[in-house]
Amino acid sequence: MTTTTPPVEIAFLGGLGEIGRNMASIEIDGRIAVVDVGVLFPDAEHPGVDLILPDWRWLVDRRDDIDAVFLTHGHLDHIGALPYLLRDLGFAPPVYGTRLTIAFCEAILEEWPDLPRPEFRELAAGDRVQPGVFDVEAVQVSHSIPDGVAYAFRTPHGLVVHTGDFKLDQSPMDGRPTDLAHFARLGDEGVDLLLVDSTGAESPGHVPPERSIGETIRQHVAGVEGLVVVASFASHVHRIQQVLDAAAAVGRRPVFVGRSMIRNMAIASELGYLDFDPDEAVDPRDVGRYERSDLIVISTGSQGEPFSALSLMGAGDHRWLDVGEGDLVILASSLIPGNEHAVFRSINNLSRRGCTVVHKGTAHVHVSGHASADELLLFHNIVEPEHVVPVHGEHRHLKAHAALATATGCLPEHVQVCEDGDSVVLEDGHVRRGDGVPTSHVYVDGFLDDVGPALLRDRRRIGEDGICIAVVTVDTHHLRLAGDVVITQKGAVFAEHADDILEQARKAVISELDGLPAAKFEDLAVVQRHVVQALGRFWKSQTGRRPFILPVVQDV
Ligand SMILES: [Zn+2]
Ligand SMILES: [Zn+2]
Repeated sequence: MTTTTPPVEIAFLGGLGEIGRNMASIEIDGRIAVVDVGVLFPDAEHPGVDLILPDWRWLVDRRDDIDAVFLTHGHLDHIGALPYLLRDLGFAPPVYGTRLTIAFCEAILEEWPDLPRPEFRELAAGDRVQPGVFDVEAVQVSHSIPDGVAYAFRTPHGLVVHTGDFKLDQSPMDGRPTDLAHFARLGDEGVDLLLVDSTGAESPGHVPPERSIGETIRQHVAGVEGLVVVASFASHVHRIQQVLDAAAAVGRRPVFVGRSMIRNMAIASELGYLDFDPDEAVDPRDVGRYERSDLIVISTGSQGEPFSALSLMGAGDHRWLDVGEGDLVILASSLIPGNEHAVFRSINNLSRRGCTVVHKGTAHVHVSGHASADELLLFHNIVEPEHVVPVHGEHRHLKAHAALATATGCLPEHVQVCEDGDSVVLEDGHVRRGDGVPTSHVYVDGFLDDVGPALLRDRRRIGEDGICIAVVTVDTHHLRLAGDVVITQKGAVFAEHADDILEQARKAVISELDGLPAAKFEDLAVVQRHVVQALGRFWKSQTGRRPFILPVVQDV
């Protein structure tokens, strides 16, 4: 085909080189559509950082050119940065997504009342929409959250398919498998450029069906006398469905804990994605009124997140739930690379309290949400793309996926391993490298490294209320505070008035830590949490300000 419109350019803002902050842009004739707006969760190398966002400064400069945002599914690494994007753009382009994806977005945006509200345009698999110069078709995919779609963009220079996340479960819980026939039709039409999920590219073979987990969960729950706690992702509706089914089979009532779990399960059951009677659920505040053997707690915290319900239970800090001897904890979840330390810390804490802990390393309680190597080979053979850019993965996944693409006959020079900030140009069905877009890497010396735009967000917070740094040294061997607590601040209070306040802050931290049972000093994260809580309370009550609190808790 030949056309006089300028070439189509696809830029990768995130998700190429990491699992998270997935975001791409596609530009046709000066107009831009965005595919996914995800966050990346920081690991232990980013203390004090909540989230890492894609670097979209260039997109903000071109805000007038943005016609639409397309969301593939409701995972936070695909939708979680939407509020931050709307904030930075200062306006809201229309947002396309399926029913559940939009419901999850709306729930997130409820916490951001001052943002411009996007017009959500619901679509279903098979729908074709044409905002502005864009011509986009949604294709049904199966994944570890219901209602996922891929998008096919028909452009003046060729057909571009973005798979989003997908797997090839042939008997999914919702009877909604990845629509291979639809992909085959697109393949017949001629896919000029395939952007395809690479997360599972290094895993050999096939992913077992999601429904195979239910039986394992039932077996483990069956013999337990005490409380059962199952931790999973708060968006994994089908996994939680199986836990609910197991609970019903053994006559236990579910207790949802964790804010996102409670919220998402309410949405999923209201919209009919979860088959369950909400009246069956027991309020976490009421667990004391039931026998422990009558309950199954369904919790967040499967990634060892320090403030999650499961971590609090492990630390003996949960308001309503305590776990111990005779109780069973199942982590029915993946282990996201980078979270190993936190997850195993959580498992160790639970195990120290006397719980039996079952996780994917010890039982069949998790399957991947992403097609693995053999399934990707099949997928490439069905779509037969002319050009391929592996997306969504660390570099090793992208590289492994490139090898799979060439193994199915795609020319090696037609497979591009790109990274965040790279772009490719599609012109008359041919793909070449583009100039790319700016992508930020803000290096901070010391224990913070490469935190990117999140650091800027933190600086805005610091700019508003200042920063308070608490250096606390503990002795995790002898289980006590070691040495003095040192508190410094910048920008929170006028320096000449600071001495008195910092002395009081120091006393507040020491008194908080003095009040802790010795066992808490085993875990630096627990101490860190108490330091943050004590200082947060102190600043708020004494000054009405909320400086950014950076705890530096170290072992002697
Ligand atoms: Zn996903
Ligand atoms: Zn993803």
